[in-house]
Amino acid sequence: MTDKKWVYTFAEVAEAEAYVGGSWDGVRALLGGKGSGLADMTRAGVPVPPGFTVTTEACNAYQASGKFPPGMWEQELAALVVTEKNTSKKFGDPANPLLVSCRSGAKFSMPGMMDTVLNLGLTDKTAEGMIKLTGNPRFVYDSYRRLVEMFGTVVLNIADEAFEEPMAEFKAHKGYKLDTEMKAEDWKALVDIFKAVVKKEKGFDFPQDPYKQLELSTEAVFKSWNGERAVVYRRQTNIPDDLGTAVNIVTMVFGNMGNDSGTGVAFTRDPSTGEKVMFGDYLLNAQGEDVVAGIRNAEPISAMNTEMPAVYKQFMDITGKLEKHYREMQDVEFTIERGTLWMLQTRNGKRTARAAIKIAVDMGNEGLISKQEAVLRVTPKDVDTLLHPQFDDKAKKQAEKEGKFYAKGVNASPGAAVGQVYFDANTADQMGKEQKKAVIMVRPFTKPDDVKGMVASKGVLTSEGGATSHAAVVARQFGIPCIVGAAAIKIDLEKRQMAVGEMVVKEGEWISVDGTTGEVFIGKIPTIEVEIEEQKDLLTLLSWADEICAQPGLRKAPAGWPTRGLQVWANADYPRDARRARAYGAVGIGLCRTEHMFFEPERLPTVQKMILAETSAERTTALNVLLPFQRSDFDGLFAAMDGYPVIIRLIDPPLHEFMPDEEKLFEEVITLRVKGETKGLKEKEDLLASIRAMHESNPMMGLRGVRLSIYMPEIVEMQVRAIFEAAADCTKRGIVVKPEVMIPLTGTVKELEWIQPRLIRIAKAVMEEKNVNFPYKFGTMIEIPRAAVTAGEIAVLAEFFSFGTNDLTQMTFGYSRDDAERNFLVTYVAEGILPTNPFQTIDREGVGRLMQMSVEEGRKTRPELEVGICGEHGGDPESIEFCHIVGNNYVSCSPFRVPIARLAAAHAALKHKGVSLAEDK
Ligand code: PEP
Ligand code: MG
Repeated sequence: MTDKKWVYTFAEVAEAEAYVGGSWDGVRALLGGKGSGLADMTRAGVPVPPGFTVTTEACNAYQASGKFPPGMWEQELAALVVTEKNTSKKFGDPANPLLVSCRSGAKFSMPGMMDTVLNLGLTDKTAEGMIKLTGNPRFVYDSYRRLVEMFGTVVLNIADEAFEEPMAEFKAHKGYKLDTEMKAEDWKALVDIFKAVVKKEKGFDFPQDPYKQLELSTEAVFKSWNGERAVVYRRQTNIPDDLGTAVNIVTMVFGNMGNDSGTGVAFTRDPSTGEKVMFGDYLLNAQGEDVVAGIRNAEPISAMNTEMPAVYKQFMDITGKLEKHYREMQDVEFTIERGTLWMLQTRNGKRTARAAIKIAVDMGNEGLISKQEAVLRVTPKDVDTLLHPQFDDKAKKQAEKEGKFYAKGVNASPGAAVGQVYFDANTADQMGKEQKKAVIMVRPFTKPDDVKGMVASKGVLTSEGGATSHAAVVARQFGIPCIVGAAAIKIDLEKRQMAVGEMVVKEGEWISVDGTTGEVFIGKIPTIEVEIEEQKDLLTLLSWADEICAQPGLRKAPAGWPTRGLQVWANADYPRDARRARAYGAVGIGLCRTEHMFFEPERLPTVQKMILAETSAERTTALNVLLPFQRSDFDGLFAAMDGYPVIIRLIDPPLHEFMPDEEKLFEEVITLRVKGETKGLKEKEDLLASIRAMHESNPMMGLRGVRLSIYMPEIVEMQVRAIFEAAADCTKRGIVVKPEVMIPLTGTVKELEWIQPRLIRIAKAVMEEKNVNFPYKFGTMIEIPRAAVTAGEIAVLAEFFSFGTNDLTQMTFGYSRDDAERNFLVTYVAEGILPTNPFQTIDREGVGRLMQMSVEEGRKTRPELEVGICGEHGGDPESIEFCHIVGNNYVSCSPFRVPIARLAAAHAALKHKGVSLAEDK
């Protein structure tokens, strides 16, 4: 037992590696993140203050027995002797004292959750020795009082106030505001005051034996593993309780020992832009805390080149080495003590989305990492963030300084928005649409009725609800920046104002909301628009992502199935959407919802006439008016997507959606009757009767989709004619067309047997009339569970499947989406009944099973069956991964999400490379 090694000096990383069997993860588990990092830097030849690490195993042994395991303390003392040799100093020696820090360090970073004690080794005697050595009593007494205070609070559990209050009193008595005003004798007096606090609170003196200081501090760090803060943090972050923390004993180095000393923090690349420049601040003659606290204005790191050229050169060499060693942008902390540079910490630096992309691409181009690694280092969320308008960082900081920060909520939908506050959907809609104002709609929460206000707004802010609340879901769907659950804001809908404490914002006043961070500011902060064409680094990264997906043989699959990765197509209803989709990299249109074209103001009356027609001849007349409109719509789409497939879906929604609102019409009829007016009354009464005749209890499960086509085939016959006429005209103009006609809401193959041959006849007739030929397909959506279950039969006719996962999710769960999101879905997610909102991320176990079954059964019938997805899930990274696994050919999503989907498709391809469908299951 006593042979067990509990302590490793920073130079013993090889021993630690051997002990854990060679894995770096094992070393991290044994020595903790900080300890393994310091040891790794030592091995790389980087100057690290000498020291050692007491292992996490020792911590666990301590937790089990309540005392240091046998041999540990002796090993700590032996490692201290090695440290003394390396520093030529001696612990507790007044002539040349070694001071050390005692720091916690678990395998996973738990910032601020556990304890640290600095300046161990200072006693009345060594303090005198230090003063002789440094000639700087102010620094020594300041360090000493810091030790007494930290030791008192951390090790002896004395409340912070017991030290803070006498210090505040002392400063007030002297008339000082800042610590910098304290003189040497002041700090000296405070050391005595603090020592008296220890005596009073604990009944014994602050230990003058440095070894006692070290022993108790080590124990305190062990204990802090089970401190309340640390336990709560572990619960939240799923860090297991049995990992334990290591304890690092590190030689203290001081940046405040004169003008040949200093301290700083730096990033090896600009963490905001990603530029390859050293970025950071440093302060001459200062300690780390001074940089962080901003007491003095730090200087840019480049200034070091003039003030200490030799150290600067060494610093640049070392950081360059560190970046190469870790193959990542590093965030370093360093101190210069009397001209000697010491690196205190290095870790992968946090960065903005923009920087993440630039750094990944630059490192890929520099050959530091492979293209695949570059692609993996950027998250779909980074791409999402980058493509939304963003606040100018400097302007945001300025606003913060000016006290304009207002509140923080959940960052529900990314992007920056600036606008005038309006408190209800009607006003928001009117101000946004009619008065062309920039609107931020503010509500306690939103309901489906509020959607019109939301889409007319630049941003949405709610004081209630979470990331799957209605506001959040809708805002993401439409790409509107949104913050939800900003609970500090009290909204007074009657007074038309909101307040955070004293800060009142009235209706019509300007605010800025940052949906990326969840922050709200008063007033206008300038935003930066993002044009994809200008995002050269992103375009490069996405081209690498596409290269990854294009590799054949990536997916192990049966004959006929795709073996390359996913393609990304887009949902686009208009030529302008299609052009955007192409600019964003889509290689097909996966869904054109033709009904949107019927809603155009100049067409709607004709659509209504067509619906109300009493004879087939009347209906045909109206449809003949609509035909040229549809033809030109499709012509534009084909032209925009020259060479790429375009899936056009035949009319889907129930007809009442094209008719005037029943209740409103009823009110109008009543008003006319009450007023005794007859003009127009009869027409309105007839219209009302027709609309009432069309009434359905559950229209979304009623006469729509293919049912409507069978009930009223003239509409889809016109649509197919329009599609093929447009395709023929385009072909004659030299445009390469690949039309695919999609029949929605199929539940049984009999429906296809009824409708599809009629439509194919029209397609062929048009090609003959126009004397042109081009490839085309007829297929269906899979959005009804019965279709999924009978996919093998459906594939006899359908040449492609497209998963309509919006409907498929509704029908599989039996949830009406609007009602579910408004009512119980938030509770279901909060209570853990559902892991996430299934309308955002595919429910793999239920809906996903149906999808998998469809692909397998469908391709048994038709091995080359083209399979895609066009529900909202097509733009969700996790769902995209699932589509890769089940064998989709492509995913189709909103044009704005195409770049995100391209990256997510590449991530899925890399993660599942070479794995067969059966293995993935
Ligand atoms: C679907 O159901 O997933 C789909 C794309 O169709 P819609 O949303 O138009 O019903
Ligand atoms: Mg649908």
